[in-house]
Amino acid sequence: MTDQNDLLFERARAVIPGGVNSPVRAFKAVGGTPRFIQRAQGAYFWDANDKRYIDYIGSWGPMILGHGHPAVVEAVQKAVLEGFSYGAPTEREIELAEAILALVPSMEMVRLVSSGTEAAMSALRLARGATGRKTIVKFEGCYHGHADALLVKAGSGLATFGNPTSAGVPPEVVQHTLVLEYNNLQQLEEAFALHGKDIACLMIEAIAGNMNFVRATPEFAKRCRELCTQHGALLIFDEVMTGFRVGLHGAQGVLGITPDLTVLGKVIGGGMPLAAFGGPRAIMEQLAPLGPVYQAGTLSGNPVATACGLATLKEISKPGFYEALAKKTRTLVDGLKAAAAAEGQPFNADSEGGMFGFFLMNELPQNYATVMTTDNAQFNALFHGLLDRGVYIAPALYEAGFVSAAHSEDDIAATIAAARDIFSKR
Ligand SMILES: *Cc1c(COP(=O)(O)O)cnc(C)c1O
Repeated sequence: MTDQNDLLFERARAVIPGGVNSPVRAFKAVGGTPRFIQRAQGAYFWDANDKRYIDYIGSWGPMILGHGHPAVVEAVQKAVLEGFSYGAPTEREIELAEAILALVPSMEMVRLVSSGTEAAMSALRLARGATGRKTIVKFEGCYHGHADALLVKAGSGLATFGNPTSAGVPPEVVQHTLVLEYNNLQQLEEAFALHGKDIACLMIEAIAGNMNFVRATPEFAKRCRELCTQHGALLIFDEVMTGFRVGLHGAQGVLGITPDLTVLGKVIGGGMPLAAFGGPRAIMEQLAPLGPVYQAGTLSGNPVATACGLATLKEISKPGFYEALAKKTRTLVDGLKAAAAAEGQPFNADSEGGMFGFFLMNELPQNYATVMTTDNAQFNALFHGLLDRGVYIAPALYEAGFVSAAHSEDDIAATIAAARDIFSKR
């Protein structure tokens, strides 16, 4: 039988760079042909050969209810009939803003945008505008979208600032971006001692999902908050991934820390292009049209996307939602750990709410450098072994995984059995 994924990939590569519209989809890290998805329902999607997979990426987080949740589908269908986009305000934008603010107490006002990249970039501009400072602090392994100033890796020392990680980003554009090691308290202290008066903001994924799954230690997160306060810098939690994913109140709820600004995306759109950033009224009122910090968007607060987001938030706000999701995710993680242990394989894993990560090593990594010591060949073998067995995990070892409300106990058990089968053949 002809492999339809191969055919589509060939066609795609002729017209789309690398055949994909976002690089990680290309399977470059793991090798092989990307699966072209034709449809999805609940915890599954089907590729071009009509092969079914248990889906653990969930569109990289948004599909927390599973695919095609009836209440969400209904809300979207209704919205579509009322028009796709107006370029004028709607009541639904207010409803979504109110719903978000009710769930994230650190936010008094919010602005809706279309992607996490846009939200993080706008939050950064706002922080610089509000503080009148230039320097931004970020951490190696945290991803905040692809705005120029954030495509940067650590320089050779704390005094030297960062180097661009992408062609097309002039060094001048990242010269105010300081990149530190995640969970490195001493470096954090030194950076603020050296540059404190110039720091506009510190941006962090407080539970990082873009270097697999790595938690900021409670002391580290607390110190980020204290140092920002002490030096007049804004603390920005990028919760594009963790917001409404690790719990109803995000990573800030889990850690009990109040950031100044919060960046949201992924789950708040329920699979539609929607993201947001927000914080205290006094800061948010610096934004245009009230204040001097410019920010805008033709499709911002899109009526179909807001309908999808609102319906999603309504479902996840139901009592017991996160308890059930977290329990299921923990069952998966514990089962994988037990399977690896039974087969004598180095392995560890962690989860919070509906987000998880696993590592082919015995310790849970604390930073990006340690995550990247993972044995690539072993990860790729596991990835392809699972894929063959109808389990779709992220095609790169530095990505987190996602469980949805639609995953059944049987799905979880089948996943653990597939992993054990692979481990047993090592
Ligand atoms: C996905 C992600 C982004 C970027 O969001 P896009 O919608 O892909 O632009 C930013 N920050 C974090 C933490 C993310 O996980």
